[in-house]
Amino acid sequence: MSSKKRSIHTTCVHAGELKDPIYGGATAPIYTSTAYDYRSDGTNLYPRYMNTPNQVALAQKMAALEHTEAGLIFASGMAAISAVFMTYLKTGDHIILQESIYGGTSHFVTAEFEKTGINYTFLSDINEETLAQSCTDHTKMIYIETPSNPLLKITDIGGVSAFAKAKSIITAIDNTFASPINQNPADHGIDLVIHSATKYLGGHSDITAGVVCASKDYIHHIWKTAKNYGGSISDQTAWMLERSIKTLGLRVQRQTKNAKKLAKFLEKHPQVTQVNYPGLKSHPDHKLAKKQMNDYGGMLSFELDKSINHEQFVSHLKTIKVALSLAGVESTILAPAVTSHSLLTADQRTDQGISDRLLRFSVGIEEVSVLKADIKRAIKKSNTLDS
Ligand SMILES: *Cc1c(COP(=O)(O)O)cnc(C)c1O
Repeated sequence: MSSKKRSIHTTCVHAGELKDPIYGGATAPIYTSTAYDYRSDGTNLYPRYMNTPNQVALAQKMAALEHTEAGLIFASGMAAISAVFMTYLKTGDHIILQESIYGGTSHFVTAEFEKTGINYTFLSDINEETLAQSCTDHTKMIYIETPSNPLLKITDIGGVSAFAKAKSIITAIDNTFASPINQNPADHGIDLVIHSATKYLGGHSDITAGVVCASKDYIHHIWKTAKNYGGSISDQTAWMLERSIKTLGLRVQRQTKNAKKLAKFLEKHPQVTQVNYPGLKSHPDHKLAKKQMNDYGGMLSFELDKSINHEQFVSHLKTIKVALSLAGVESTILAPAVTSHSLLTADQRTDQGISDRLLRFSVGIEEVSVLKADIKRAIKKSNTLDS
């Protein structure tokens, strides 16, 4: 455990702090200007150039959290992801992607890469052997997401970066599910660390934003492309996100603690047939998760047995909200087959192991006893054999 990890809450609160130079206020001022005196220090400040005081302060906080030299803040996770792709990939290039990634990302690949003539390979199982088989002379990037959505599969981050480094291939990871609290991929050699800040970083289900963290060189490259695409964040939202991140460590540690307890509770429940959580010893990649993650995170998924009508189950939940997104302080649940993964065909879902009965659970900060009671009651009420 590095000293950076031990001072995680201090980093959340103080890294990239923007001081109030006039009144000495304890919180950062918000600079909403879109017009700045260009003579002041030789830089042209402009929100779309991603270089206003609030944008820069937030980028510094994120870089500190991800143990990288620099960061760049975007208007959404997809704005960050698409800027990364369009910076490094051109017609004729090839990219290898993990198959089980965020639906929006795989949709971007199939829709936009087809148009631009960028070649891609989705791999269901990423390891040295499958990477070597798929790699060509034109392979420019390997893109992974771990833990994955919604099955919480774990990809070997160090293995991927070692393979890529030997061939000078750029590596990128979507680190949204773990958050910088539970996983720091740059420490394992990954070049580009991406977040949908709409999730844990915002944490209150009320902000849309995205982040890329990397070395100064990489960030400078991405910035040159990003300002052409224009996916910049507003300074008000940057300020809100900076405020939210002050409690990131507290929130995520609490969510992780709750998720661990709930995963064990669900695993023992007679009506639960499957629990996917990397912190469980029964998880096929538990050892790998233990090696590369600081902790196992607040996301899990599970299946109820056939005696339970799962649509009824979710409607009987009172504290746990049925909702599309994830990672807020409130617990939320969804059925991937009809939401996040509805763009896949039924066959594709089956291939990836996403059953119609699977429920993805984003564990909040509520008392774990309340969440357990909510689940127990909803299972009882939706048991078709009981009535
Ligand atoms: C939500 C999400 C995204 C996309 O982020 P937006 O802010 O919605 O653009 C990307 N990756 C993962 C893992 C996500 O959960």
